[in-house]
Amino acid sequence: MRALANALDTGRIHHAYLFTGTRGVGKTTLARILAKALNCLGVDGNGGITSKPCGVCAACKDIDAGRFVDLLEVDAATNTKVDEMRELLETAQYAPVSGRYKVYIIDEVHMLSKSAFNAMLKTLEEPPGHVEFILATTDPQKLPITVLSRCLQFNLKNLAPALLATHLAHILETEKIPFEPAALDMLGRAGEGSARDALSLLDQAIAYGAGEVKAVQVATMLGVLDQTYLFSLLQQLANGDAKALLAGIAGLGERSVSFELTLKDLAGVLARVALVQSAGADAVEGPDALRIVEIAAQLSSDDVQLFYQIALLGRRDLALAPDEQSGFTMTLLRMLSYKEGAAVNLESAPAVKPISTGISEQMPANAAPSKAIGAVPDVVSYATLSAAPFDGDWPQFVAAQNMSGMAGMLARQCEFKSFDGGVLELSVPDQHKHLAEKPYQEKLKASLAPHFGGNVKLNIKIGGAGDVSLAATEDRARLQSQADAEAAIEADPFIKNLQQDFGAEINRASIRPAQP
Ligand SMILES: [Zn+2]
Repeated sequence: MRALANALDTGRIHHAYLFTGTRGVGKTTLARILAKALNCLGVDGNGGITSKPCGVCAACKDIDAGRFVDLLEVDAATNTKVDEMRELLETAQYAPVSGRYKVYIIDEVHMLSKSAFNAMLKTLEEPPGHVEFILATTDPQKLPITVLSRCLQFNLKNLAPALLATHLAHILETEKIPFEPAALDMLGRAGEGSARDALSLLDQAIAYGAGEVKAVQVATMLGVLDQTYLFSLLQQLANGDAKALLAGIAGLGERSVSFELTLKDLAGVLARVALVQSAGADAVEGPDALRIVEIAAQLSSDDVQLFYQIALLGRRDLALAPDEQSGFTMTLLRMLSYKEGAAVNLESAPAVKPISTGISEQMPANAAPSKAIGAVPDVVSYATLSAAPFDGDWPQFVAAQNMSGMAGMLARQCEFKSFDGGVLELSVPDQHKHLAEKPYQEKLKASLAPHFGGNVKLNIKIGGAGDVSLAATEDRARLQSQADAEAAIEADPFIKNLQQDFGAEINRASIRPAQP
């Protein structure tokens, strides 16, 4: 910026400037300062072009207030039409009304259409002496070379976290708002190089802390903010919506978040989801507990284990990726493609047609709910058997071993083929073939060793219907207990009364089997 200041002080004025840098870094703010510098009249009204606009003359004040007639600001993101551009540029031929220069600030200039660029180019090629163009963009690569070559370009660097924190401290001191420096450090980092983002986070922090900015509260606030995008990523994974997922990742890229940290946080959230799935909703606390429980209900526990594993591996390999965002994108797409596609979805099972009016809404608030209308659990538990030697019943064997993690994931989907004392032959259906990858096999082999001996060889083939795996057995049991629960509800005399006396309808999708 010293180069810009020197140029102004020595009167070497270029007629078109281009400010580049990430969003919120201060491009338009700088453009307005430059507009003031060019038009400042000085404290005494006799000033000239200066690198230090006075801020008190009519020109400076009018520019600050956004009513300086010779400053025209356009947001190209909303005014891309060539007609609007042409209209705007036609005014360039008229001399400024009150200022020295007629200043055009065009923000997000890369958004202009090609014809709008051409219209602008004509003026850029032969600019009237009193015209100043100040273009700003986050994306200079998208500008035509003909425009680039006519501009003096300044790249605004991202603001370092410490610099942002100092800036915030200065504001708070002026406003006499108490703060803890550690809180500002966090806000400075969270600003990700953008003064605008840091300021808006500071505003939220002041509101959140009821007039104070304290470290503990800011940590909580930022934590909550962070998890909002983590949850929407998980939601898109649960929905299997690749398009929304990619759009979400692109959004993160624009905010230049650290993808490495995002993967770490994602694994943290998945760990809490797994906790809820195995120990119930009470296992998590905090402002986001409800969202954790929601996600836990939408993902199978296998998927959660898998996502967790993939997140850790993705984070480890991030340094090898062409760039962080690609590495992150591939990691999430991997989750999506390895997600259980064939999981039984009770809502879409043909026998279960949801009816619009939920019975829970129709029930009097003090009525004791029927035992069958439990909230979440749909887990079928198997009696834990002793570590007996393998007797040929693979599903029962797997259930008895209570295998977890990758070994359990593979074992649950496998069908038994044969065992000749040395080689255990299994098959895994095509839609779960990713589970036959080496790391899964090695884990399974290790956990089988106590029963089959350390030298057991695994031979896992891809294919088969998969209907005698533990997973399939459990799915059938789940469907059966669902059908039982629905039958029990329909036979319940209390429910029958509700139907007769209040016209209640049963929302079958809301029926869940009671926990055994
Ligand atoms: Zn001034």
